Amino acid sequence: MSLGEFDLIRRYFRRPDSHEAVAVGIGDDCAVLRPSPGQHWLVSSDMLVEGRHFLSTVAPERLAHKALAVNLSDLAACGATPRAFFLALALPRADAVWCEAFARGLFALADAHGIALAGGDTTAGPLNLCITVMGEAPAGQALLRSGARVGDEIWVSGELGDARLALEVFRGTQALSGADFEQVRQAMETPSPRVALGQALRGIASAAIDVSDGFVGDLGHVLQASGVGATVEAEALPRSPILRAQPLALQRLCTLAGGDDYELIFTAPADRAEAVRAAAQACQTTVTRIGRIEAAPGLRLMDAQGQRLELGLRSFDHFLSP
Ligand code: ADP
Ligand code: MG
Repeated sequence: MSLGEFDLIRRYFRRPDSHEAVAVGIGDDCAVLRPSPGQHWLVSSDMLVEGRHFLSTVAPERLAHKALAVNLSDLAACGATPRAFFLALALPRADAVWCEAFARGLFALADAHGIALAGGDTTAGPLNLCITVMGEAPAGQALLRSGARVGDEIWVSGELGDARLALEVFRGTQALSGADFEQVRQAMETPSPRVALGQALRGIASAAIDVSDGFVGDLGHVLQASGVGATVEAEALPRSPILRAQPLALQRLCTLAGGDDYELIFTAPADRAEAVRAAAQACQTTVTRIGRIEAAPGLRLMDAQGQRLELGLRSFDHFLSP
């Protein structure tokens, strides 16, 4: 069944429920949002393009989940509480089955994080989706890339590298058993943004970023923004048992330059390590201490024997990567 643009919006995206942040939602020319007293808005957009960020075969529920998850991950990195989001969608056709599944995946994750769809745009065209998220944090308390200080410890949440391992299986460069592939594929297609951890780290972490393009490059952004350097123990980077069973070179590629991890890298003063662990435990997220911020610029990667690694790894760049 084919639908018109306004039927599609009304049927799949407009919902009757209200949200305290949204005074006027879908249906007028603008959404009208209600800021909470003492809070700043934090706003971020992420676009997903078919063939670039996802494969044409991905299930619509998972595509919707990922599109919102990568945006929520940016709010997580800043320690923000999700409030409202906007969805700009280009669809080759208004297919009811596809839209129903897409909306189901979208609202399952949105409801889990208490974030309301407050508007967007819908057009015909090659499949492409852009979500803009808005969150709040107490004025002056957002976690930024620029706050790392010499002597701070560097932490990472969860595990790195499974999404890249899944991508390599899709590309045909690696093979896994069916069960292992399903597990790493979930990391790639339905990542869990670390929203609770980001909020719990406000007032504890000195800087944070989410890992979207790869650990080395994303930590590099923190170092650059903060005007510092770091030493990291490469083998301390957390990884799943499935990745740990792979050759070391592949483990390093996936953990250090994998991309699509949506974990948080954050720094905190060494005397806040207990507070970091308590915050992580309170939101049932594992965290691993992997290195230290230093004055000498640049990132020094060490192997388990304390020898310097020169891997020449580069993070994903849309204009430079193959
Ligand atoms: P306008 O032409 O004034 O820009 P539209 O006709 O594009 O408005 O959209 C009508 C309403 O539907 C607006 O409130 C808009 O925010 C909302 N909307 C359009 N597409 C989407 C979408 N994909 N998801 C959520 N809301 C949408
Ligand atoms: Mg208008």
